[in-house]
Amino acid sequence: MKIIIVGGVAGGASCAARLRRLDEKAEILMVERGPYVSYANCGLPYHVGGSIEKESSLLVATEQMFKGIFTVDCRTNCEAVGISPKRKTVELKNLLTGEVTAEAYDKLVLSPGAAPIRPPLPGIDLPGIFSVRTVPDAKHIREWLDAKQAKRAVVVGGGFIGLEMVENLVHRGLEVTLVEKLSQIMPPLDPEMARLVGRYLSKHGVKQELGDGVAGFRQAGDGALEVLTDSGKAHPADIVILAIGVRPETALAKAAGLELGQRGGIRVDEQMRTSDPDILAVGDAVEVKDFVTGQWTLIPLAGPANRQGRIAADVICGRASRFRGTQGTSICRLFEGTIAQTGASEKTLVRLGDTDFEKIYLYPNSHAGYYPGAKMLVVKVLFRKSDGRLLGAQVLGEDGVAKRIDAFAMAIQMGATVYDLEEAELSYAPPYGSAKDPVNFAGMVAANILCGDMPVAHWNAADGVFVLDVRNPPEIEAEPLAGALNIPLPQLRARLGELPRDREIFVVCRSAVRAYYATRILLQNGLKARNISGGMLARSHQIV
Ligand code: FAD
Repeated sequence: MKIIIVGGVAGGASCAARLRRLDEKAEILMVERGPYVSYANCGLPYHVGGSIEKESSLLVATEQMFKGIFTVDCRTNCEAVGISPKRKTVELKNLLTGEVTAEAYDKLVLSPGAAPIRPPLPGIDLPGIFSVRTVPDAKHIREWLDAKQAKRAVVVGGGFIGLEMVENLVHRGLEVTLVEKLSQIMPPLDPEMARLVGRYLSKHGVKQELGDGVAGFRQAGDGALEVLTDSGKAHPADIVILAIGVRPETALAKAAGLELGQRGGIRVDEQMRTSDPDILAVGDAVEVKDFVTGQWTLIPLAGPANRQGRIAADVICGRASRFRGTQGTSICRLFEGTIAQTGASEKTLVRLGDTDFEKIYLYPNSHAGYYPGAKMLVVKVLFRKSDGRLLGAQVLGEDGVAKRIDAFAMAIQMGATVYDLEEAELSYAPPYGSAKDPVNFAGMVAANILCGDMPVAHWNAADGVFVLDVRNPPEIEAEPLAGALNIPLPQLRARLGELPRDREIFVVCRSAVRAYYATRILLQNGLKARNISGGMLARSHQIV
């Protein structure tokens, strides 16, 4: 059997290596348009920033390794320029000599990835405007930064590649402005969580222009660039990084008559087969089903691309592997902080008209408070009201974020409920967590809501209601809450008579823990009470 793989990085290289492990006899040809295979594109921002100093560190596996260890006919600088599904051939162009040859296949795997979006804006081709996709891109950015002694950068696009570039340019000593067309950065997050990320960026000196798209670029008098925005602003820059998203590379597939999906990616089934059963496709170029919502989606991430490459190899070798769908689990470092999410966001659920969900906000310590160095985590969890199934989680913080998001991610993929989170047995010693881990804690809070022990409320419903603030006087002085009745928690039992019996009472404290105790007291004394999720801490980033 002869298999041709187009694209030699995440999905393609995984597929080639797995194919060889499964079939010693298969003839495998992997072609890659660029000069390197299997490079770490996820490491490119850190190479620009200097934490990964050597370019060679980015080369996870080389052409020689594929040839030597896997006996894969691996060709770099070789572009697939046409597919004939009828004849089962691919036209390959040697980019060094220009020679075009046709190669026959039994099975073809497409893993061409996704290209950075470069809209046809005025001045887009001026020198100094870069996208970040390949090792040569990172090299050119580094050379430009050095040659121009760059001091000011504009990063266009506040997704995870944009934020990683922001961090790395700041790390190199540049003054950075982030321009984002949407009203929030980090689109997979809900806006109130993204707002915290924005504040964090400001704290680190990064200027942000949100809700303002780029209209064009022009050369300024001093030889630098100016980034012009829809609102009429001009941001000076010695370098511009474009990170406004990626588009699946589907030209080959389209020309070959393969079916594309509604989101513009190559349509595949659970076994990564395209509309032609002898052609499979994986990675950023394909549309996949969202594991939580069941909707078709494009999620350009390395984990799914690697898994899909492996599944394609399994399927070619007659195994019954299937892709379960993606839940968009991702993580991004930002200075000392970490941003992570998995599963559905609230805004996605709302967009889909889903009303069978509840949300909670928690602000637990990253590890036992008595052990030095604990940092507050910000956790948002979404779950089904009807059966408690976990739908999504977003976690921000400076310590222990990865540990929690991965627990949530695994729970979502296993179809776990908040009751399962309550019971999860997670690793604990004081430097790492708490005996009641934030993941358990989230399960307990959510389960309390679902079983009626703790009715919940949110700030957007708090206008005009009776609010009981159970914080202590110094806290109230530091952060007053207009219109609320203050009864500190220790006095509550003695002062129940001050509370209305005919109205619902929204209870608030700093983080919703004392308000939970208060809610229990009120409910057991026959009053109607709800705990405002996340308390004053949630208010600080929900109400602006
Ligand atoms: P790629 O890995 O992009 O490989 C596609 C290859 O196909 C390319 O090298 C291309 O040259 C080649 N190709 C295309 N067309 C042809 C053709 N016709 N003939 C021959 N070759 C062709 N994901 C994460 O999960 N975590 C991260 O931290 C992360 N960071 C990232 C940072 C950056 C800067 C970038 C660019 C991406 C990052 N990603 C990250 C995304 C991740 O790298 C991709 O999701 C993943 O590489 C997709 O794998 P793929 O095989 O589909 O495509």
